[in-house]
This record gives sequence, C-alpha cells and structure tokens, in this order.
Amino acid sequence: MRLTRFYIPTLKEAPAEADVASQKMMMRAGMIRKLAAGIYSTLPLGLRVIRKLENIIREEMNRAGAMEVFMPAVQPSELWVESGRWDVYGKELLRFRDRHDREFCFGPTHEEVITDLVRRDVRSYRDLPLNFYQIQTKFRDEIRPRFGVMRGREFSMKDAYSFDATDDGANKSYEAMRVAYTAIFTRLGLNFRAVEADTGQIGGSFSHEFMVLADSGEDTIAYCGKCEYAANVEKVEIKAPADVESGEALPLEEVSTPKMKTIEEVSGFLKIAPERLIKTLVYKTDTGEFVVALTRGDHDVNNVKLARAVKANEVTMADDAEVFKATNAPSGFLGPIGLTSVKIIADNAVRVLRNAVTGANKKDAHVRNVNHERDFPNATFADIRNVKAGDPCPRCAGGVMGLARGIEVGHIFKLGTKYSEAMRATFLDSEGKEQPMIMGCYGIGVGRTAAAAIEQNHDDKGIIWPSSIAPFDVAVIPLNMDDEAVVKAAEEVYAELMKEGLDPIIDDRDARGGVKFNDADLVGYPAQVVVGKKSLAEGKVEIKNRKTGERVSVAPGEVVAEVRKVIAGY
Ligand code: ATP
Ligand code: MG
Repeated sequence: MRLTRFYIPTLKEAPAEADVASQKMMMRAGMIRKLAAGIYSTLPLGLRVIRKLENIIREEMNRAGAMEVFMPAVQPSELWVESGRWDVYGKELLRFRDRHDREFCFGPTHEEVITDLVRRDVRSYRDLPLNFYQIQTKFRDEIRPRFGVMRGREFSMKDAYSFDATDDGANKSYEAMRVAYTAIFTRLGLNFRAVEADTGQIGGSFSHEFMVLADSGEDTIAYCGKCEYAANVEKVEIKAPADVESGEALPLEEVSTPKMKTIEEVSGFLKIAPERLIKTLVYKTDTGEFVVALTRGDHDVNNVKLARAVKANEVTMADDAEVFKATNAPSGFLGPIGLTSVKIIADNAVRVLRNAVTGANKKDAHVRNVNHERDFPNATFADIRNVKAGDPCPRCAGGVMGLARGIEVGHIFKLGTKYSEAMRATFLDSEGKEQPMIMGCYGIGVGRTAAAAIEQNHDDKGIIWPSSIAPFDVAVIPLNMDDEAVVKAAEEVYAELMKEGLDPIIDDRDARGGVKFNDADLVGYPAQVVVGKKSLAEGKVEIKNRKTGERVSVAPGEVVAEVRKVIAGY
C-alpha cells in the first residue's frame, strides 16, 4: 500500500473528550471517528486491524468446530417475550416499532434468535452437538458509553452459541471454547487471564471472563498468588470466617456520638478499630424493594454480590430520603437493631463479631455490645463484600489474594437450559424422550479487543501493535523524495517485501522525515525501513524496531530477512 493512496488522517492532538490511551491513539492515528455518543466509524487503517483480528478469531472458532452464520441485527419482540427478557433487560435494549406498529429491538446479543433458529430444524440427539458463531454488530444503549470503542453503544461482537444433548457434552463444548479463546488471545499477543465471572443478565450456571491486564481496565480481578484461582471481584468467593469470636455477649449500651457519621469518625471518636464496627447501608433493588446491607467497618459492599444475594437484577444505594423511608432513621446513624420491616443481609464476616458497635437508628448515637443472635436475629448471612488484597484464598491453603485491573475482552457462559426451556428448543433423546437442549454462549468484543491491545502496548509516541494485528507489518520510509536513488531503493525494498508475502506500506508522501517518523511511531508499524541519502551512499538502509527502538543497518537485499526477524521477536 502507498500512503499517498491510503487514507490515514492523523491528528497532532487527541480530542479533549478522549480519556484513555487507546481512544486517544485510535483517534490520532486515524483509525476511528465518532459519529454520536458510543457510535463510531472505522476508517481504513482501523478496519485493517479489525479484519486481521477477525481472521484469527475465525480460524480458531473453525478449528474448534464452530460454524459461521450471520443473523439479523433487528429482532422481533416476540422472541424476547418468550425468553422472558423483554421486561427485564431494561434500558440497554434499544426498542422500536415498524410501520405496522410491531415491536422490535436492535440485538444486544443473540440467544433468542439462535435458539429460535435451532428449534425450527433440529429434532434428534443425532443432530447435536452444534455450535454456531457470527461476527456482527450489536447495540446496547449503555448508560455511560466511554473510552471510545471500548464501551460503545454500537459495537461488533463475535458471538457463538452451542447446543448439546447431554450435560457432559455441554461441558465439552464449553471447554472447547475456553481453549479456543485462550488460543485467540495468545495469538493476539495479549497478556490476559481467564477468570471466574458473574453470569449477570445473560443468565446461566457458570462462566469465565477473559481479561486483558491493564491499569485502565474497568474490572478488578482477584487472583491467588499460590494456586490457579482467579475471579472477577463481582464473583470471587471470600472464605467465611469459621468461628464466632470468644467472649460473652455484654448488655447493649447506647453511646453519644455527636455528628460522628462515617466509620472513620466513629472509630476515631470511640477509639475502636473499624473492624469492630458494623456498617449499615440501605439499597434499593430494581423492583423498588429496600434492602439493608451490613458489613464490617473496614469492608465494602459489592453491589453485584448483594444483588445476587437478594435475587435482584440490580441494586443501587438509597438516597437520604429513601433511607429514612426504609428505616425511619437518619443516615449516618443506622443500625440493624429493631429493623424488622425490611430485609437485612449481613456479610459473613459480621456473623462472627462479638460485642460490635453500630448505629442506634437515631441522630448522634451509636450502640455498643451488639451481637447478631440476640440483637438482629432476622438477618441472613451471605458473601456480599469486596475482596481485599491479602484475604485468604478460598480454594487453597495458605494462598493470599491479590488484585489487578483488567479489560473484559471475552466472556463464555454455560447457559444450561434457561433459553431452551423458555423457548421450547427440544430434541428427542436416544429413548425418544423430549429434552431441552443444553446451551452455552461465548462472546468476544472485537473493537474492545483492538483497544485493549493498545492499552497494553503503547508508549508516549503511539501504538506498538502486536505483530499479529498490526495494520501493516512494516513501513518503508524514504527520507528524500527528491532524490532519485533514494526513491528507487525504497520502491525496490517495498516491492521485495510485498513479493515475499509481507504486508508493507510505503510513505511516499512529499513530507519531511520528522513528520514521517512521528506518524510511523503513532500508527505503530512493528518495523520501519528508513531509506536515506547518506546511508544509501554507503549501501545501507536502516531498520527500526518500533517496540525496542533498536536500529540496525543492512544492505537493501537483507531487508526482508531483517524485518522478519523484528516481527518474529514481537
Ligand atoms: P461489560 O461488563 O463490559 O458491560 P458484558 O458482560 O455486558 O460486558 P457480554 O454480554 O459478556 O458483555 O458481551 C461479550 C463481549 O462483548 C464482552 O466480553 C466485551 O468484550 C464485548 N462488549 C460488551 N459490551 C460492550 C460495549 N458496550 N462496547 C464494546 N464491547 C462490548
Ligand atoms: Mg455490559
């Protein structure tokens, strides 16, 4: 490709709204342009990256025995009513009506459509297993689209769906996808981890997320420093403390705590460690129910865990007015004692506390010597808190949990029969008995993966593409376009690279060397071949490794071998 014939509208500055490196660099390198919030066009350079990424995904999906299909983006509401999700999916689902006033949505995912497709034609256990995938546009009306294509509203996803006759078969299909995903992200050259994950709105029995490790990641993952256990913090199991602390339950005692509302204030004022306090918070579920959550003073509620514990889709913190409505008490001085008309969920760590301190449900007062069996026996206990670095591993002896940030690029679920039962996708087993198919679903965010690759691979000059998805393998940079020998040598090198099956671009613009270098570093070609008057006079061209910055001088005839060496070392 010739840069004069290719469209790479690079920018000196990133738009002010761009707030992560990948978004800035995708904009500056001329890969994407924004049309509306969370809706982007992909320009030619960006599309080259996307196509290379898709090819790797396709190869591994095909190798794993999945078959490519292409389903409609627009989906009739009836299917969603059948699956039970029309009413629960909420505002992320973009709904609209056609001219006949029929309701549709723009698909945020395709469980309904694929289940409908399969139930029409598949009859027998002999037809199973099946696994279909597509790479297709989704729409989710995200409440806060951000970070460019990382969290868009319209975005491209590879989604796959497996159908099995037996549970064992379904586990094998899941495992095949786990292996394929591992192969995909390994080939992409990413530093990632597969972690146990929450199943969220898609539903199902177990799942793994594939996380690209990056400080800018929106997710936090917890991993054991000793064994293989790793999980999203929304899912990570926290070992429940075993024994209730020793000592007798002392009589309740009210203490005055004027204006002392936060854990720090109360702990400092009463000279009691935060872990001796019980924090009381009020949440509201998506169905409008109030829930009181208790954790130790030094712990925090994890909203997803809390939602799971109360079987809600979502919980949000109640505001002061709602707190008062639910408890009849002012926030800052809440406690579980006497709260009988609202559900109380306490974290497992609260169960073992003896003679703790909590709010008195009236202004400027707390209570000492609180013991759950006597003082709030109506609480149920669950794992609802955030993991902390240093917590013991729930799986192995002696392991300690650490925390890292990650970008979720892929997610695999074992769905079980949630959709096949609701939508009657059944088959006849070997005894002629009708059974629901056992399903799995498997997604990869295509644009998000490209962005995650940049988050993990860049410097202050620009992108450092993993060679497997670089838009071009190598840029040939003639420095003096008015020098015939330079242009001729550069053209020859370019032709040779192409002939040898590499994917080169030649910067044949009539521009200064500095401009070409800056653009090449910004776009992030793994190798640059610099052809300049001076070195050419000595029969040499220079090859720069974008990642290491190393430069070597070689004869033009050795360029191909040297470029291959650079790429192989990526
Ligand atoms: P998140 O928690 O980040 O919203 P999700 O759990 O809703 O993701 P899935 O339903 O599992 O995502 O979708 C599969 C994959 O699609 C994700 O792993 C991610 O790579 C990608 N994806 C999801 N939402 C978006 C989005 N808004 N923009 C870009 N990619 C997305
Ligand atoms: Mg989401």
